[in-house]
Amino acid sequence: MIAPHIPGFTGSPIDRADHLRRDEARMAELLRDLRARLLRLAVLDPHLDEEGRLGWGSLAELEAETELIFLGLHEEAPLFAPVPAVPPGQRAWSVFPLLNRMAAEDAALWGTARSLIEWHNRHRFCANCGSATVLFRAGWGRRCGGCGAEHFPRVDPVVIMLAEHDGRVLVGRQPQYPPGRYSALAGFVEPGESIEEAVARELAEEAGVAVSHVRYVASQPWPFPGQLMIACIAEAASDELTIDRTELDDAIWVGRAGVLAALAGEADAPFQAPPHFAIANTLLRAWADPLAPSARPA
Ligand SMILES: [Zn+2]
Repeated sequence: MIAPHIPGFTGSPIDRADHLRRDEARMAELLRDLRARLLRLAVLDPHLDEEGRLGWGSLAELEAETELIFLGLHEEAPLFAPVPAVPPGQRAWSVFPLLNRMAAEDAALWGTARSLIEWHNRHRFCANCGSATVLFRAGWGRRCGGCGAEHFPRVDPVVIMLAEHDGRVLVGRQPQYPPGRYSALAGFVEPGESIEEAVARELAEEAGVAVSHVRYVASQPWPFPGQLMIACIAEAASDELTIDRTELDDAIWVGRAGVLAALAGEADAPFQAPPHFAIANTLLRAWADPLAPSARPA
């Protein structure tokens, strides 16, 4: 492990208390517990107070017929999240300004709820037989009313990586990025692939770079809607690029000084760094300045 850099969406303070999810009697008690709290949401986005902390209400605020997820216990208080109906095409990006002022542990907790809410919304019907499913295991699964199949929240692994060559690393920009933004290249791990193979394939496909010596740096859950981002650094055989323009607008090699300038937000930096809550930021920081403390807000 390279660094004291802590990725965004990690560090949730709660006990997930998995053993309580299947205990219907204890779950009924927790629902009556006066300490129980319900996460306040505007569809998927959190309500934040002036200090950037998550808003919580009582279970009495839950609308009738709305499903409920047991998030876990925090200092013995049971925490729940509602499962609101999410309109198709709901975009994630409205939350990004909020994430800039959100406490790290709250971002982790909200991210967990967001991933689960989206998963419930997309799994109301059984992938096996098409019948309606119902929530079970206190929100950590759905069971089919037709064939009885049990479905569990999925996490999709994504590799995100820096190729390194002669003191420089490769960053690229996707068409939808804000002006000036470059980030680590990334892609979904495919069936039949190891992390190392996925890193090598993505770098070859998107930038024409051959790599070896893939090393793991850190991981983070990314709740848009449910990826596990696996951050790696790999050694490139050369700095020649063949950019796949359907994936990337551009890709550039940047040295340590340029990466540090970007992370510091300097006006003359060679690119604009990804936000602090994205693991690409953690990865760039870990590569450029392995001993510095995390720059994310406490
Ligand atoms: Zn079914």
